[in-house]
Amino acid sequence: MQGENNSGQVGPHFRITEVRIKLTEDPRNKLRAYASVTIDDAFVVRDLKIIDGSKGPFVAMPSRKLADHCRGCHHKNHLRAAYCNQCGAKLDPDRAPRDARGRARLHADLAHPINSTTRIEMHKAVVRAYVEEAEAARAAGEAYRPKDFDDLDDLNESLDAEYVDELERRQEERERRRRDAVAPPPPPPQELAGGAP
Ligand SMILES: [Zn+2]
Repeated sequence: MQGENNSGQVGPHFRITEVRIKLTEDPRNKLRAYASVTIDDAFVVRDLKIIDGSKGPFVAMPSRKLADHCRGCHHKNHLRAAYCNQCGAKLDPDRAPRDARGRARLHADLAHPINSTTRIEMHKAVVRAYVEEAEAARAAGEAYRPKDFDDLDDLNESLDAEYVDELERRQEERERRRRDAVAPPPPPPQELAGGAP
């Protein structure tokens, strides 16, 4: 459970008290479900997404597309827009900020865990709830009724492939950083020389 901790790391200081899952209609969609999580019976974060990644389902935090302002009229445009939506000026389609490996970053998370312990706990809770809901849907067949989810029903049920790629890259990046953090640092040079008492 959330409070348990046998890794010796600092555990999350909150409990996920509810996860709600709304499966998407189209099983071919990489976006498999929306989720909302309730933290400590007190705070709800909505619009998490469960995405069918190349290494299994993973959780994407609520996010928005990054935008910048047209130099001519200051209208806000999506970073991939080739022309300003307001004044029609030509824009540089490659103006998005780049990650360490030179690939465009077009989205920013609006809410997210700030350490890997919390991220892993949240991932586990959401994926577990998603798997249960997907199994319930399969078992119920035609009789399955998706959860009533307030205005989540109004959200657009499509994900562009570029965003899925971006999310998968960030996931890989995090895993790489986690592996690097686990590897012990190399000993300082003086120990290699055998000079320590
Ligand atoms: Zn403009």
